[in-house]
Amino acid sequence: MKKNDEFEIDITDIGNDGEGIGKYEGMTFFIKGGVPGDRILAGATKLKKTYGYARLVKVIKASPFRVIPKCPISEKCGGCQIQSLSYEKQLELKERKITENLIRIGGFSPEFIKEHMSPIVGMEEPFHYRNKAQYPIGTDKENQPIAGFYAGRTHSIIPNTRCYLGAEENEEILNILLSYMKEYKVEAYDEATGKGLIRHVLIRKGFTSKELMVCLVINKDAKKDKKGIENTWIPKQEQLIEELTHVPGMKSISVNINTENTNVIMGDEVHTIWGEPTITDAIHVRDMQKEGYPFTGDALTFKISPLSFYQVNPVQTEKLYSLAFEYAGLTGNETVWDLYCGIGTISLFMARSAKQVYGVEIVPQAIDDARENAERNGIENAKFFVGKAEEVLPAFYEGKLDGERSDDMLHPDVIVVDPPRKGCDEACLSTMLKMQPDRIVYVSCDSATLARDLKILCEGGYQIKKIRGVDQFGHTVHVECVALLQRMSNTREKVITLDVEMEDYHRIVNGGK
Ligand code: SAH
Repeated sequence: MKKNDEFEIDITDIGNDGEGIGKYEGMTFFIKGGVPGDRILAGATKLKKTYGYARLVKVIKASPFRVIPKCPISEKCGGCQIQSLSYEKQLELKERKITENLIRIGGFSPEFIKEHMSPIVGMEEPFHYRNKAQYPIGTDKENQPIAGFYAGRTHSIIPNTRCYLGAEENEEILNILLSYMKEYKVEAYDEATGKGLIRHVLIRKGFTSKELMVCLVINKDAKKDKKGIENTWIPKQEQLIEELTHVPGMKSISVNINTENTNVIMGDEVHTIWGEPTITDAIHVRDMQKEGYPFTGDALTFKISPLSFYQVNPVQTEKLYSLAFEYAGLTGNETVWDLYCGIGTISLFMARSAKQVYGVEIVPQAIDDARENAERNGIENAKFFVGKAEEVLPAFYEGKLDGERSDDMLHPDVIVVDPPRKGCDEACLSTMLKMQPDRIVYVSCDSATLARDLKILCEGGYQIKKIRGVDQFGHTVHVECVALLQRMSNTREKVITLDVEMEDYHRIVNGGK
């Protein structure tokens, strides 16, 4: 075969970026736009020894799982990867991805996974579920400001103010911002030159409270421009505020300073220019054993700052947290560590049914929110530490941190972890193993790093008891997962040696997949 050759191929699977995968004459092909179950005509674009890439020329026989995407630009936009696939099939593939990673990376047997994994928790309404959107702002060929999303794997902006995953209000807010930029000739930031003012806009909505937050990420160095800056971070600021405050629910308008030439969206500095510095939202516990997952107990309310992490799918988050809560098996007497705690959401869920909770989080603003959230919910048995989990936990364990250090803290009943995609750092995992909690509840947004970390924890004396996927991100390839691990030995005296596990960690991390 040569480049541009056309051939017929059946799409049988989906890749990490949502691309279709099929086999042709012993070669594996990755084909963007191909949906599992399709028979298509493909044109080879890149050929390697055992695999290749091809483009979709024509669908010959459409998959029974192919649907017409709601969003007209879903195939171009990098936000959704699998909107052309029926939601039920998306769930099936996500569950399969978790299983495959646990087998391939984690080394668990298919039978073991089958026995311990419950069916993935899907969404009732897989559109307009996101409470947060970060739109890049740019300029089109006519020199007009645009907002939209990056096309997959690039930084070219596909203009789009109506996203089917986000809150309905986003469109109105974006239109106000774009009209303001046009009227007052406010320039969008240009990555190539580093010039221009408006880089991104972050919009967040409390789905329960209906409160809205708008945060403009701007390229303006406050230190170079001190005079009167508190009042005028952007030209004609009052006019923009006036328009935005007409949107029902508007609660907080702020600017975030980012003058760096970087892919990181937000800088560290936030200034509220109107209203409150935070919005609030409420989360309920649900009974995950009953059909329809009914609420149990009162909601907790949370304050959320622009820089704090807050789960993006509030409906599914309740299910995710409720599973984590169920897995923790609390009776009121337990000591719990919640690592990667964000604004303390999981910590406070647990604190209501535990003796004491300790949270650790790297972002200082999130810890400020967490402390305030404990107070506003009348919770006195949750303490929070700022820092990296992999530094705070070992320092604490080795007695290098000042303050309280009880036996309960050193050997808690439960450790909850909810790390970012890269998973837990080895220093964090090894300290967890030294602390020998009875149970570890691992909340993960990347099943590959989850599988890697579970392997290490299981080799360190733990056993998976339960595992379940929760779809937080419909129409994208991402999937969330919760696992319950139980310590196998009954004594805490035995502190195991960790050399083997850590060697393994390096092998998996470095040569891994
Ligand atoms: N459990 C929280 C947050 C989960 S997201 C919730 O459900 O809302 C992961 C969190 O880990 C983020 O808040 C992020 O800021 C934080 N984080 C990232 N790296 C970290 C590290 N090395 N140590 C501690 N926290 C970290």
